[in-house]
Amino acid sequence: MTTPVRTRFAPSPTGFLHVGNIRTGLFAWLVAQHSGGTFILRLEDTDKKREVEGSIAHLKECLEILGIDYAEGLDVGGPYGPYKQSDRLEIYRTWAQKLIENGRAYADPYAPEQIQEFRDLARVEKRAFLYRNHRPENPPAWDGTMPLRFKSDPKAYSWHDEVMGDLSTGPEVIDDIILIKSDGYPTYNFAHIVDDAEMHITHILRGQEFISSQPNYFNLYEAFGLTPPIFATMPHILAESGTKKLGKRDGAKDVLDYIREGILPEALTNFIASLGWNDGTEQEIFSREELIAKFTLDRVQRSGARFDKQRLLWMNGQWIRRLNIDELYDRTINFWPVSAAKATEAYKKQLLALVQDRLKTLADLKTLTSYFFEEPTPNWQMARENKQLSKLSSEETRSLLQHAIASLSDSDFTPEALQEALNQLLITTGQKPGILFSLIRLSVSWSPFSPALNDTLAVIGKEATLKRLNRAIETMNVTIS
Ligand code: GLU
Repeated sequence: MTTPVRTRFAPSPTGFLHVGNIRTGLFAWLVAQHSGGTFILRLEDTDKKREVEGSIAHLKECLEILGIDYAEGLDVGGPYGPYKQSDRLEIYRTWAQKLIENGRAYADPYAPEQIQEFRDLARVEKRAFLYRNHRPENPPAWDGTMPLRFKSDPKAYSWHDEVMGDLSTGPEVIDDIILIKSDGYPTYNFAHIVDDAEMHITHILRGQEFISSQPNYFNLYEAFGLTPPIFATMPHILAESGTKKLGKRDGAKDVLDYIREGILPEALTNFIASLGWNDGTEQEIFSREELIAKFTLDRVQRSGARFDKQRLLWMNGQWIRRLNIDELYDRTINFWPVSAAKATEAYKKQLLALVQDRLKTLADLKTLTSYFFEEPTPNWQMARENKQLSKLSSEETRSLLQHAIASLSDSDFTPEALQEALNQLLITTGQKPGILFSLIRLSVSWSPFSPALNDTLAVIGKEATLKRLNRAIETMNVTIS
């Protein structure tokens, strides 16, 4: 029988989760889901100086929004808790004690200044600094006030990383790492090994910043007689340019910011899953169920994954189109223009049906619909900047608008009757749709986009349409500054 898969997401509460962190969490979750295993949330809060208030609540909100659920871990408990490292200090001490007893850990007697001198000397002599070269001969008994160090056993390692492939290092990278700091908290290096062992983690997914420490972790696994789990190192996420790591300025922002900007959680999940993973086909849109069914670590690429904002917007548009109007309406509550406050649900749903295909984010609703709720202010500058409309003289513009008023006054305002009237108007004026329809569209909406013209006019209604067309004529020669 094979061991059941157990993966974990082990964030530190040191700030807000950005796409890189959450991708590691998502992939670990997918590995567990794919094989019917268990996904665990563990909080790595041993670096008290770096802790940022509010991070835990934020972390949980992100996971919830993206549907990354966990049946074991922080706050929900489970057989190997507690799942918050600061509640596990006794456990680390017990494990440290085992190493002390086996002569594999010792108290570090040096003051930080002394260690700095060792470092400086190594730099002057142009050799890498290794603490083990200064290992004290008769260290004092460890009383908890000094750092506790690992007595390493330098050797070469070769191993397989599920993503990065076969790797190897020499003994020169092995050193006497700190296990427990002088403040009594364990280091990440030590605590995660204890926790992963106690929690029976089978696969460790993490960022590239940990790969250089991996040989030291092997050394520690050996000292405990543990079989290491499977490792998968995530590729970098690169900025749009593809040449450097994604930083704050390039969109490495808080995951919740994307949701606030009108990205659907399912689109964000789909997008994050695609950062460094594909299923080997051209398929780009994956539901959560499809991701679970198809996700495997052997399809995670080694090279950096480019963060393409346009692709995220495209995916979001695709996901918006997949929702039915009632579902879409439920997602839009926070995204309507202020002027929509008094409108009925039925009216808003009618608008959603019109603009659904044009929404890239839910936040686009404001510009795409505000003129359905209130009379827009004419802005003839928009006509002057329009390639087609700028060709018309004032006389031609006025005459076209007058014709439009005359013909629409006689029309019923159903989409079909309006289409009929607009087609007729093309014939009587001899204009191209690109000009005539753009002019009418602009004069009733003063917005760069609108849905199909007949549908737009039908929703705006006869009275308001005619009023806006008249207002357009009145304001033609008025310069609005
Ligand atoms: N606490 C580490 C981090 O937030 C977790 C690394 C790991 O998954 O082992 O980066």
